[in-house]
Amino acid sequence: MPTHTIVLIPGDGIGPEVMRATRRVLEAAGLSVEWVEVPAGASALEQGMDNVLPQRTLAAITAHKVALKGPVTTPIGKGFKSVNVQLRQKLKLYAAVRPVRSLPNVKTRFENVDMVIVRENTEGLYSGIENEVVPGVVTSLKVASRDACTRIARYAFRFATRRHRRKITVFHKANIMKMSDGLFLDCARQIHDDEYPNIEYEETIIDAGCMQLVQDPAKMDVLLMENLYGDLVSDLCAGLVGGLGVVPGSNIGDDAAVFEAVHGSAPNIAGKGIANPLALIMSGVMMLQHIHEDAIAQKIQTAFEAVLTEGKHLTRDLGGTATTDSFADAIIAEM
Ligand code: NAD
Repeated sequence: MPTHTIVLIPGDGIGPEVMRATRRVLEAAGLSVEWVEVPAGASALEQGMDNVLPQRTLAAITAHKVALKGPVTTPIGKGFKSVNVQLRQKLKLYAAVRPVRSLPNVKTRFENVDMVIVRENTEGLYSGIENEVVPGVVTSLKVASRDACTRIARYAFRFATRRHRRKITVFHKANIMKMSDGLFLDCARQIHDDEYPNIEYEETIIDAGCMQLVQDPAKMDVLLMENLYGDLVSDLCAGLVGGLGVVPGSNIGDDAAVFEAVHGSAPNIAGKGIANPLALIMSGVMMLQHIHEDAIAQKIQTAFEAVLTEGKHLTRDLGGTATTDSFADAIIAEM
């Protein structure tokens, strides 16, 4: 009997390619797993489902509590509501956790970047409540509730404490959005003052915060922010450490967790076998830590760092010529 049952969602675009590579690495590292493969995204429609987020996909995650997910495509300006937004809202995956760190031999403008973005995942402008008030005038509602703001603040401080991080910086725009971002700040301050006074705490208006990020990212530690800001800042931070091919992520709730890379379905390179699977492999490492398979997680991390350091098998986004599969092969050979 396999030790773990894990839901696997290949996704769209480069999703199936990077998922296949990731799965091979996890299994070669010794993970004893039964995968429960279910569809989501445009590929679910292509497989004849009538919904981009089929009920059986939600039911599988609810039942098995842990999923590894590839990216899914979301139509722009029309069409179905984002699968990711639905998934996070329906399963109450309220915390997106995205570690961003410098990797060996991945050349960027900065060294020693080591930060974690904690993003509120269920509210903000991603509530999806939009309305055409009169023809030509549209409103989009930004939702902030004390419960959700407190929940994410507490999560971030608890995370910082457990991971021995020193500082939390909240990115906000409460000078303009005085009520919604004001509430977010209120909740963060309260959790800091009442529950975690030993963690250093600071607040930065997001525009200035972005400037600081691109000027001296090594000063940042844990960044806490609402949904939209977290989405944007995640990609900005990915650019500081080598791009979207190297930044993993997780969506954590009290009852389930879904692990996925920060990147999207990358339609411009889909089907070519050249996508970097490292971001999803690193998300797999986060998943292994979540299910207490720390030794296997460490084995994979040591192996991919060795492959990066050697530099012979880098994918194109990192300046090499390796394919999705040959990069995974190199990690497996290293293990
Ligand atoms: P994207 O992240 O898919 O791609 C942005 C750029 O980064 C592209 O040039 C792409 O080739 C490159 N890139 C991304 N991942 C890479 C990898 N692993 N290796 C090498 N290069 C990589 O963003 P986009 O093009 O704006 O979005 C495409 C689709 O993905 C959209 O439908 C969007 O809604 C969706 N999306 C999904 C998720 C998710 O499922 N979690 C996240 C972001 C975007």
